[in-house]
Amino acid sequence: MTLIRLTGVTKAYPAPSKGADPVVAVDDVSLEIAAGEICGIIGYSGAGKSTVLRLVNALEKPTSGTVEIDGRDITALPERELRRLRGDIGMIFQQFNLFDSRTVAGNVAYPLEVAGRPRAEIAARVDELLRFVGLDGKARSYPEQLSGGQKQRVGIARALATSPRILLADEATSALDPDTTQEVLELLRRVNDELGITILVITHEMDVIRTLADRVVVMEHGRIIETGEVFDVLSGP
Ligand code: ADP
Ligand code: ADP
Repeated sequence: MTLIRLTGVTKAYPAPSKGADPVVAVDDVSLEIAAGEICGIIGYSGAGKSTVLRLVNALEKPTSGTVEIDGRDITALPERELRRLRGDIGMIFQQFNLFDSRTVAGNVAYPLEVAGRPRAEIAARVDELLRFVGLDGKARSYPEQLSGGQKQRVGIARALATSPRILLADEATSALDPDTTQEVLELLRRVNDELGITILVITHEMDVIRTLADRVVVMEHGRIIETGEVFDVLSGP
């Protein structure tokens, strides 16, 4: 079943200065991601990868083309439906984007507080998530007391809080050393295997794709230049 479908999507940003051309960040991209798959998008900086992610979680609207989740066009959703959609999509970041003034538990609880869940439910869910990512015992710590790998585990726990069906990872291991990167990638594998969550990762690192993805999409200058099974694409001609 196709969960995420982009059809003929172009995204142009306004010209950076008067007389300049608009920046075409994504250029006529069509892409289907099946439920339960781990899809990687690889490409150099500026290829349009993050724009694709922001189109999928409806932070950006395409200039033309359609973005569908579960067969529904998300480019024209009313505010209420948009909030529901965002609860269905978790996101993790290169710089983790944790709230420094909140504890680990407070960070993981945040999306549930925003969603107005009852206190007792939040506490139980936070416990469960911290156990899943291997950070039970760190609930009362603050981000500055954690290693990079631990911070990303908090990021993952927070992204999973609302039980999304989709996880978007934006260069999620680019700030980590190789061993920590492997640990975080293993955790993301478990997120996919054990929770059945569909994962879309964007990265400029070949190793991340090799370790994690089932399928890879190669982007260059806003376009998809190649797509296929990881082994076939990355072994090359
Ligand atoms: P990647 O994630 O592959 O590095 P991006 O999607 O961030 O690529 O960027 C693609 C192109 O779009 C780049 O030329 C970038 O400068 C431009 N771009 C990205 N976001 C914006 C924005 N908000 N406004 C203007 N231009 C942007
Ligand atoms: P903040 O960091 O915003 O001050 P707290 O750390 O006090 O917030 O708690 C935020 C949320 O995390 C609360 O909803 C609470 O239920 C939950 N929580 C707090 N401590 C724990 C803990 N040790 N184990 C599990 N959940 C906790």
